[in-house]
Amino acid sequence: MHRLPLLSVMSSSKGVVLVTGAAQGIGRSIALRLADDGFDVAVNDISNNSEKLDALVSEIQEKGGASSKYVADVSQDEQVKTMVDDVVTRHGSLDVMVANAGITGIVAPLTEISADEWDKAMNVNARGTFLCYKYAGIQMIKQGRGGRIIGASSTAGKQGFATHGSYCASKFAVRGLTQAAALEFGPHGITVNAYAPGVIDTPILGAARDTIVEHYTKTSALKKIGVPEDISALVSFLVSKEAQFITGTAS
Ligand code: NAD
Repeated sequence: MHRLPLLSVMSSSKGVVLVTGAAQGIGRSIALRLADDGFDVAVNDISNNSEKLDALVSEIQEKGGASSKYVADVSQDEQVKTMVDDVVTRHGSLDVMVANAGITGIVAPLTEISADEWDKAMNVNARGTFLCYKYAGIQMIKQGRGGRIIGASSTAGKQGFATHGSYCASKFAVRGLTQAAALEFGPHGITVNAYAPGVIDTPILGAARDTIVEHYTKTSALKKIGVPEDISALVSFLVSKEAQFITGTAS
C-alpha cells in the first residue's frame, strides 16, 4: 500500500478523507472504496440521513477501518468550518476532501422558476463545494504536506440541458471553481479535480429513474448508465500516488 507524501509516518493509515453527501449513492460508494484503499474516512450528510451515516460508519469499522460521522449542511459556512476542524481534532489531519454533496434542484423552464428555487441548487452544489474547497484548502496549506481535493461536476457542467438551468449552472460553477482552485492550491502540492459523469444509478434520479434509464440506455455512448462504483474507482485513482500530476480536470 502506498502512502501519500502528505501523511504521517507514525500512522498505518494512508491519510484522512472527508466525503460529503456520503449517506447514499456516489458518496457512500466513495467512502467505502477509500476505506478499502486504507484511508480513515470521515462521512458527512444532512440530519435527515443521520441513521444512514451511522450504518456506513459501522460498516467501515466492521471491516477494520477508522470512520466517524459529521452531520452538517455544506451550504452553511460555519457548519463546514466546524466540520473540518472536528475531523482534524478526531483523526489528526485532513488529506483528501471529496465535496460530493449535491441536489438536482428545481426541474422546470427558466421562465417558471423563482429566484428562491434557483438558489437551492446553487447553494448546495456551488456554494457548498466552494466552502468545502476553502476550508479543506486552509487546513491542507497549514499542514504543509499537500493533499487532494475532489468535487462533483457532471455532464450537466459541460453542456446545457433544458429544464435543468440551475443544476447546469451549479455544475458549470464546480468546474470553474475546480480549475481556479487547482491554480491557487497547486503551489502547495494540492491537486484539485472533479468527476463529471453522465447518468449514474442513485437515489438522485428519483421517480423519473426508469424513464431516464430507458432514455440513456438508448442514447449514451456505452448504451448503459453508470453505477456508483464507476465513480469511486475514478476517485480512488485521483487520490492515488499515480495521479500526483493530474489537476484541474473534470472527467
Ligand atoms: P444522491 O442524492 O444519491 O446523494 C447525494 C447526497 O448528498 C444525499 O445523501 C444528500 O442527503 C446529500 N446532501 C444533499 N444536500 C446536502 C447538504 N446541503 N449538505 C450535506 N449533504 C447533502 O446523489 P448522487 O447521485 O449520489 O450524487 C452525488 C453527487 O454527484 C452530486 O453532487 C450529484 O450532483 C453528482 N452527480 C450525480 C450524477 C448521477 O447521475 N447520479 C451524475 C453527475 C453528477
